[in-house]
Parts: sequence; structure tokens; C-alpha cells
Amino acid sequence: MAYHYVAPLADMRFVLEHVLAAPASWARCAAFAELDIDTAAAVLGEAGRFAGEVLQPLNAAGDREGCRIDAEGQVRTPEGFAAAYQAFVDAGWPALPCDAAWGGQGLPLALDAALREMLSACNHGWSMYPDLLHGAYETVKAHGSEALKDRYLREIATGRTLAAMALTEPQAGSDLGALRTKAEPQPDGSLRISGSKIFISGADHDLTHDVVHLVLCRLPDSPAGSKGLSLALVPKWLPQGERNAWVVDSLEHKMGIHGSATCALRYEGATGWLVGEPHRGLAAMFLMMNSARLHVGLQGLGHQEMATQNALRQVFERRQFKMPLAHMPAMRHLVLRLQAKTEAQRVIAYRAALAIDEMHHHEDEAVRRRAGGLAALLTPVVKAFCTHHGFHGAAAAQQAFGGYGYTREVGIEQTVRDARIAMVYEGTNEIQAIDLLQRKVLADGGGALEDWLVECEAEATCAEAAAAPFVPSATRAPHAAPAWPEGAEFAAALRAQIGRAREATASVAAAARNDADAPLRVADDYLFGVGHLLLAWAFTASARAAAGQADQPFAAAKLERMRYGLRHVLPQAEVHWRRVLDVHLSLPALRAP
Ligand SMILES: Cc1cc2nc3c(=O)[nH]c(=O)nc-3n(C[C@H](O)[C@H](O)[C@H](O)COP(=O)(O)OP(=O)(O)OC[C@H]3O[C@@H](n4cnc5c(N)ncnc54)[C@H](O)[C@@H]3O)c2cc1C
Repeated sequence: MAYHYVAPLADMRFVLEHVLAAPASWARCAAFAELDIDTAAAVLGEAGRFAGEVLQPLNAAGDREGCRIDAEGQVRTPEGFAAAYQAFVDAGWPALPCDAAWGGQGLPLALDAALREMLSACNHGWSMYPDLLHGAYETVKAHGSEALKDRYLREIATGRTLAAMALTEPQAGSDLGALRTKAEPQPDGSLRISGSKIFISGADHDLTHDVVHLVLCRLPDSPAGSKGLSLALVPKWLPQGERNAWVVDSLEHKMGIHGSATCALRYEGATGWLVGEPHRGLAAMFLMMNSARLHVGLQGLGHQEMATQNALRQVFERRQFKMPLAHMPAMRHLVLRLQAKTEAQRVIAYRAALAIDEMHHHEDEAVRRRAGGLAALLTPVVKAFCTHHGFHGAAAAQQAFGGYGYTREVGIEQTVRDARIAMVYEGTNEIQAIDLLQRKVLADGGGALEDWLVECEAEATCAEAAAAPFVPSATRAPHAAPAWPEGAEFAAALRAQIGRAREATASVAAAARNDADAPLRVADDYLFGVGHLLLAWAFTASARAAAGQADQPFAAAKLERMRYGLRHVLPQAEVHWRRVLDVHLSLPALRAP
């Protein structure tokens, strides 16, 4: 059977409804009070249909054809991409989480997260074009002048104009403080932008007439380093109708996402307008980058889902030694590991989106504050952990295809190639790890982490309560859920991870007091430790939700996979925590070749 994707709608609904209790949260947010789970599931069903029927058939063809620059210097996307984008706009998908005031549908980001997961799974290259829309919308809404909002915000919210994020320059990748693009103020209040950018996704294409770039640049009086950066909005077409002064010099030849136009471009005195305060561009840009980081994490999740589904089909179809591969313990481990990790990461990623919804809309100020802290804490973990597993999970799934998986015909090799970039862009995974440990944990005195650990403890307590022996009682309804003895095992594993997270955090904080480099030495392992803590929480919350309905085949199978995750995936956590606790160990300098 051909490599293909079926939207995991039942699991998405299970996560939102039973694991995260999203409908109860929506009821406490005025913006979503009217939304019920059946409507949400219907929206996701339509999104799954769009991704599967419209985008999926363009995936392999778009990979083969790639993008090109035509004789007029205009970037052309693969056959069918523009028509698919028009259908996406006509159906209102870009506007899903935007305010009704700007032409949006005002639905939760948690639904948008599921939409993004499906788009990326079916066609990562295509999904790059609309992926930056929401971040651009949030940035212009929060920091744009009234004039800019009037001209561009509705266009961006509805997807009629696409957006690109122009940060990277040849000498300035992770270190944005090194960037040189200049912005000179003009008498009419506009800016004249000059400089070169590389690796800019969707800087030009043929999906929409206009494209707006959010460009990081320097004003003439700018202080050196990242504190001196400003943000400008630079369109392709000026309001009077003339073409703005920037050109795409070339398209990058890449390992994957060939359908996405990755542009090297030059601003030659292009007209732009300041977004936000002078020299405060990076702070404004972070709104766009945080939204984009969540989306990139969801790309990783989409790749894992695509790879897992196909590995599962493969092990049932392929026979060796007169039996299907599915009978062989090694292949069973391979697929179960993929399933447990993918499903748990769905819970984690949607929890992050739900936190962003609560941060903006919850009626209770204290919940809004805690949700803001949680969203900030989870964003780098979702970005790095889900993209790491997106690539490594796809590569693991490739193993189930044997030699065929290495050929172009089968399809898994495209998933492996496409998944790799997500570990690099939007701030590499190493930069995410530093962000998590230094900015989100140590700089905050561990406050947001501790709030989250308390929430995890509450989950462990619920699992313990569910494990309590069943006492027949006249007052207990005959259909009441029976006791769930395994709850104690889940709770103990989760409590062990909570303890490890506290111990490791205290140890790094103590080491950092007289050794500023200490957090940098262990940041990657710390992020993976926290990722495993989140897996433990997701395994427990999912298993507890499934245990309540274990007579249903879907829930019984879920329980089995979460049990597998707890017993076979979680032991890996100890490797990471151990290395963090060894924070005092010296790290030898590399010897130059
Ligand atoms: C397909 C594609 C699409 C892209 N799209 C965009 C886009 O739309 N807009 C945009 O502006 N940019 C985009 N980029 C650029 C991307 O964001 C950068 O490539 C990325 O930020 C890394 O920068 P770099 O390539 O210069 O690597 P470098 O910064 O040179 O990093 C190389 C390695 O060193 C590590 N490293 C660097 N600094 C540290 C540190 N302090 N501590 C630990 N490790 C460190 C990195 O993690 C990485 O592993 C894209 C890139 C690609 C390939």
C-alpha cells in the first residue's frame, strides 16, 4: 500500500476532550464560551480532509519539481501549490485563530495546532508558506502603527497577503546581534532598507500578489549587538502600486522541503515602516518567533505521525521468515516506541497551545498569569523535543522499510529529509535548550517550572486516587469507573521525574553561582530531561483518561501504548538527568585540527 497519511482525528479529539479537558477551559474563556467539542471535532475533520485530499497529493511531486526563479525574477512554486493555497484561503483556514475584528474566526490556538500538525504531515514544503502568518498577525497587531494595521492586518489575518521573517544574514545566524541590514529614516516617516538576507522562507512566491517581510535591521544610531535591532515591515508592492526595491538573487538548493522557496535576497533602498519601538525590534520579533517555534514543534509532531502510521502498515504488510514483521519483537518495539512518543508529544504540544489560549482569554487573572509562564516554559521544549523526535522518529521508522525505505519510490525518505530542517531553523535546538534553562528557568528563579511541577503532582495524586481499591458503596453509581490499580505505577514514575527535575534544577542553579558556563554545559540534557518529565505526565494523564473507558477498543489500545511508554521509553530520562547532575564535570576544549 502506498505511503500515505490518515488524519488521527480520534486521537486529536481524545487528547483535547479527555486528556486536557479543553472544553472546560474554553467555557472559562469568553472568546470560546460558545465552542463545544463536537463543533471542534467537525472543524478538525474538515482540516484533515483538506490536508489529506488537497495537500498530500502535491507532496512528492512538489519535492521532485521544487521552486525556481522565472525570467522576470519572480519565484515560482511547484505545480498545484498556488491553487491549493487559494482553496486554503477560500475555506478560511488562515484566519482560524485570529480575532473576528480583523476577519478571523476567533477559534482557539489548540485547534490551530491540530491544523498545523496535519498540514505539515501531509506537505511540509507547502505548509511553510502559511506557517508564518499567525506570528506576523500577532506582531503587527501588538506592535504595528494604526496605519500599518489598517493597511495590512486584515490582509494577513485572512491569508490574502503572506508574510516572511527576514532575520538571517551570512554572518548572523544564531547570533542575530551581528546583523548589518541598514534602515535609514526618511522625511515621510518611512524607512529605506538596504542589505542582504539569506535563507528567507517564502520571501517571494506566486501564491499571493503581495508578500510582507518583517525585517530585522539597524537604525543609524543603533547600539551594537542584539539590543540595537529594529523591526520593519517591508512589502513586495508599495501602496501606490510600484514594485518595492528588493530582489531575490537565488534559491537555496536544499536537502528537503523543496516545495518551500528559501530565498537569498537584497534590499536595495526598499521602503519599509517601523514596527514597534526603535531598537526594540527583537522584543517585537519574539512574538512572531514564539508562534513560529510552536508551529515548528508541530511540524516535528506531524512528521512523527506520518512516519509512525506508515511504519505500522509496513510491519503488517511485509513478511519475512514466513510471518509479518509485526510478529518480531524488534519491530514491535520500534513501532510501539514511535506510537507512545508521538501520542504523548501530541498531548504536550496541544497543552502548550491551550496555555497560550488561557494566557490571552481566561476569565481568571491568576490562571492567565500561570498560563503565560507555562507557555513560555513549554515553547522551547515543544520546538526542540518534538523536532528532534520528528527527525529521529522518521529515521527509526525508515528501518521498518528495510532497503526499500532508502529508495525514493516509498516516501519515507522524503519525510526523513524534510524533518531534518526543523531541528535547525527558528532558533536551533541548542539555542532552545539555552533559552529554556537560562531564560525560562534560572532567570525566573524556577517559578514557572515549579507551577508546572505542582500541576504534575496533581496529576500523580489523581492517578493514585484512581488506583485506590474499589469499595462497593450504596451511594456509588453502578456505572462508576472501577479502580485502576496501575495508576499507582504511573503516579510513582511521574513523581520520580518531578523529583529529578527539582534536583537537577537546584544543582544547576547552585553550580551557576560561581561558574557562569555551567548551565551551557548541560542545557541540552536539561531540555531532554524536562521533555521526559513531560512524557511521564502525558503518559499518566492519557492512561488515566483511557482507564475510565477501557471497555472501548480505542481506549484499551491507548492504555496499552501509554503503559509501554512508561516502561520502555521513560528509562531514557535517567541518562539525561544523570548528566545534568554531573554539571561539575569538566568539558575538555576541542583541539584544533
Ligand atoms: C530551509 C531553511 C529555512 C530557513 N528559514 C528562515 C527564515 O524564514 N527566516 C530567517 O531569518 N532565517 C531562516 N533560516 C535560517 C535559520 O534560522 C538559521 O540557519 C539558524 O538560525 C542557524 O543559523 P546558522 O545557519 O548561521 O548556524 P550557526 O548559528 O552558525 O550555528 C551552527 C551550529 O552551532 C550551534 N550554535 C551556535 N551558537 C551556539 C551557542 N551559543 N551555543 C550552543 N550552540 C550554538 C548551533 O546550534 C548549530 O548547531 C532558514 C534556514 C534554512 C536552512
